[in-house]
Amino acid sequence: MFFQLMAKPAGSVCNLDCQYCYYLDKPHLSQRHMDFALLERYIQNYIASISQSEVTFLWQGGEPTLAGLAFYQQAVEFQQKYAKGKIIHNALQTNGILLDDAWCEFLQKNHFLVGLSIDGTPKLHDSYRLTKSGKGSAKQVLHALNLLQHYQIPFNTLTVVHHHNVQHGKAIYHYLKSLNVSYMQFIPLMGEHSQRASPRDYGQMMIDIFDEWYAADIGKISVQFIEQWMMAFLGLQPSLCIFRKTCGDQLVIEQNGDIFSCDHYVYPEYKLGNILDTPLIDLIQNPKQQRFGLIKAQLSTKCQQCQFRFACNGGCPKHRTVQGFGEPHNQLCEAYFMALSYMQPYLKELAKYFR
Ligand code: SF4
Ligand code: SF4
Repeated sequence: MFFQLMAKPAGSVCNLDCQYCYYLDKPHLSQRHMDFALLERYIQNYIASISQSEVTFLWQGGEPTLAGLAFYQQAVEFQQKYAKGKIIHNALQTNGILLDDAWCEFLQKNHFLVGLSIDGTPKLHDSYRLTKSGKGSAKQVLHALNLLQHYQIPFNTLTVVHHHNVQHGKAIYHYLKSLNVSYMQFIPLMGEHSQRASPRDYGQMMIDIFDEWYAADIGKISVQFIEQWMMAFLGLQPSLCIFRKTCGDQLVIEQNGDIFSCDHYVYPEYKLGNILDTPLIDLIQNPKQQRFGLIKAQLSTKCQQCQFRFACNGGCPKHRTVQGFGEPHNQLCEAYFMALSYMQPYLKELAKYFR
């Protein structure tokens, strides 16, 4: 069966103090990293549970590099021990602060894909991504980006969209382009934050970025939301869970082996069990998880009638908090609808071309 398990080996601890981060409020375990006996169990179980010939390990946090380089060296050894002919991939999402030559040599040698968090130009980045002493972190992130390029490590950028950078979509796109970034993700800040961008502004930002991309960078730069919706216009299911019909195949393993339904639902009621007590495959096949995945298909009347349902599928259930449309409706709808309405004629043309 297909599923992905995202690991948080260092728990929710971080070496930055981003002013919008909800992990800062979460309780931290005192352990530096997942212990090696658990790591071995997790890697063996995960590889054995995936029926496909390729297995991807996703390392996130908090800040996953805080688990230390030795932790990942051990992880790779376990992966080799249990691969049994399967191809293993690793993807690490990091703020870049700890990346140095030793890290980059390791990441390069073991073919890691890196996701680097960068919120735009140095000034925009430093509006919220602060060090523990309250200073901006842009300089360190740019150093990390240069190192990744120097070592030719494949990487993408993750930009959190908030009320400061949302008006600067074009500038951010061109800034990242000037840094030779070839895969960009723009993820809106959600939750109860005063720093959130409005859905309208986020929609306009997507349109602005799309315009820049369409004018000069088709086939050269990948932007996640464009790529995902392009898939839908080609008649395929988007690969990103939030735009698919159902979900439930993106689980999380915490530092202590607890497995949860999804990173957006790390709450006691969504805990499926612990990998030390129950084989992973049994946790995945738990009817509770099957039901969780189907919640996404319960769409509001507005979504059911929407012309863009095939591309959006109501977005993530976590963001469906608007009442009055039968089932709860997505707070990002205005952004999605605006952007899709604008992009539709272009994506239709591109789909004809790609076909
Ligand atoms: S709840 Fe949201 S983030 Fe989690 S798997 Fe479903 S669509 Fe994805
Ligand atoms: S654009 Fe809005 S109405 Fe249409 S499917 Fe998405 S969330 Fe639903």
